[in-house]
Amino acid sequence: MVIQKAEEVQNSIKVKIESVERFQEDNFFMKTKPEKKLSFKAGQFVMINIDGVHKPFSIASFPGEDTLDFLISVHPDGEITPKLAKLKPGEEFEVEGPYGMFFVKDTPAKEIIFIAAGTGIAPFRSMVTDALFRFPDKKVTLIFGFRYDFYFKDFWKKLQKVHKNLRICACCTRPHRTWKGYTGRVTEHLGGEIKNAKDKEVYICGPPPMVKDTREHLKEIGFADKQIRLERW
Ligand SMILES: Cc1cc2nc3c(=O)[nH]c(=O)nc-3n(C[C@H](O)[C@H](O)[C@H](O)COP(=O)(O)OP(=O)(O)OC[C@H]3O[C@@H](n4cnc5c(N)ncnc54)[C@H](O)[C@@H]3O)c2cc1C
Repeated sequence: MVIQKAEEVQNSIKVKIESVERFQEDNFFMKTKPEKKLSFKAGQFVMINIDGVHKPFSIASFPGEDTLDFLISVHPDGEITPKLAKLKPGEEFEVEGPYGMFFVKDTPAKEIIFIAAGTGIAPFRSMVTDALFRFPDKKVTLIFGFRYDFYFKDFWKKLQKVHKNLRICACCTRPHRTWKGYTGRVTEHLGGEIKNAKDKEVYICGPPPMVKDTREHLKEIGFADKQIRLERW
């Protein structure tokens, strides 16, 4: 993977774990306190370093917040995520960054659409907030697909109360019987939610197959490459 340098990369800093919220499939949301402030743009990532293994993780908190937060999916036989999953509040690790060019660009588009699957929602927690503050007159749409956990549900609901221009479509692939949103994969609902490509820009984040399928569906709707920005992992 080629890591693009957006701005001057800061030295590596230590972060201390404040809290860990666990989800299905061992996925977890970790709030950490950096030893000093890290300047970054909403959507960027840092390299997390555990025992000499460095891997990229998107920052799920908003620039200016006191904590640096991460939403992490655990690969049981992976190099770094099982180690991260074992860490407890009070323990520390190193991060380096910020890196990446996946942030909300200035745009003449009238609607900005964010499409995520699973923990791919991590950078959108700050990018959607950023888009709402910077572009109060544009429509902002979040289309989010997940298996079990509607990550940050309360956060999205609060944001929607303040920003009436935010529309959220949630799609669950393993719904509980009380689930009232869409079922199935995000790609099954794109045609219904996005009627055409006019005056729209899209950001996609998720696993490579989801990003590829979503991009293909968008091209069928009429989107040009320059209207689509992606991050996959
Ligand atoms: C820009 C960016 C941002 C990211 N942000 C996040 C984020 O916010 N949250 C998040 O959870 N992840 C994120 N990722 C992914 C993250 O960096 C790690 O790649 C991921 O967590 C897996 O790390 P790991 O070391 O635990 O697993 P790895 O060791 O990389 O293994 C991952 C999977 O691949 C399999 N595998 C490994 N090697 C092989 C091989 N040779 N052949 C076949 N299979 C193999 C493993 O069995 C495992 O199932 C991001 C990635 C990028 C590029």
